[in-house]
Amino acid sequence: MSDFQAPAGRYAPSPSGDLHFGNLRTAVLAWLFARQSGRNFYLRVEDIDSERSSADSAQRQIGDLKMLGLDFDPPVIYQHDRGDAYAEALSRLDTYECYCTRRDIREAASAPHAQPGMYPGTCRDLSEEQRALRRSELHAAGRLPAIRLRAHVREWTVHDFYQGEYTGRVDDVILKRGGRIDQAQAGDWAYNLAVVVDDGYQGVDQVVRGDDLLFSAPAQAYLADRLGLTIPSYVHVPLVVGPEGRRLAKRDGAVTLRDMLRENSAEEVVAQIAESLGCAGVSSAQKLREVFDPAQLSRQPWSWAR
Ligand code: GLU
Repeated sequence: MSDFQAPAGRYAPSPSGDLHFGNLRTAVLAWLFARQSGRNFYLRVEDIDSERSSADSAQRQIGDLKMLGLDFDPPVIYQHDRGDAYAEALSRLDTYECYCTRRDIREAASAPHAQPGMYPGTCRDLSEEQRALRRSELHAAGRLPAIRLRAHVREWTVHDFYQGEYTGRVDDVILKRGGRIDQAQAGDWAYNLAVVVDDGYQGVDQVVRGDDLLFSAPAQAYLADRLGLTIPSYVHVPLVVGPEGRRLAKRDGAVTLRDMLRENSAEEVVAQIAESLGCAGVSSAQKLREVFDPAQLSRQPWSWAR
């Protein structure tokens, strides 16, 4: 049985670099929504992508969030420890092997922020003979097939706090990536499976994250349904954008907490986040928890300005 019995929210960063102002703002929002509704709040390190993740980065991210005054309920979980749970979930789903190249796979659906080109279904209805042939060709090249969900619906509707009912396409998402036979154990679980299995395991019934992930919610909710898990309520929040109107990124200047702390105190950074949430003049997370009103949050992206 899971140790996680209480309703919960979470913040689930990928540890591939320091958190920037936009990430921090989303983390504060996730914490506020969870704490204001009496939920537990977990930090989950989404480090399934072993090439881009580092333990050092995870520690820095956790330190940064604590510096802002956010508190988490234990334990912090790491996706690199969760392979057995993903395998067990995979065994309960209707799936098929996909022999498309890694490039096709990457383009199709696996990265959290990639708008997926819908998978054209190339490998969905192959005969056993065709599969055996494709598998042996792939093996000869030192590669393993990917595993895809065989989706039985084309769309799914979720409920989002800001968007209301949101209906989106459900793809045959990648659940396990292919890759080289000699590296098959590392980094092979796909984001969509890991996030759903872990939210279910941790009792997460409220998912607060950037609205660039809204498009992935219908497929994730469908996966949760297939696995018999509670479908969380979603709160997709507007992103912070840089001077060019694109999602804030490191190229936009001194955007990480560590950058900002060279010229600002932690309270001043919290105050900047609070201002972006419609709570000007507030400079502590605890105070923000008392005064933040979700209904007052601007639905527009927040423009980063120095
Ligand atoms: N790990 C994902 C990211 O860093 C977030 C996943 C989620 O919140 O569902 O973008």
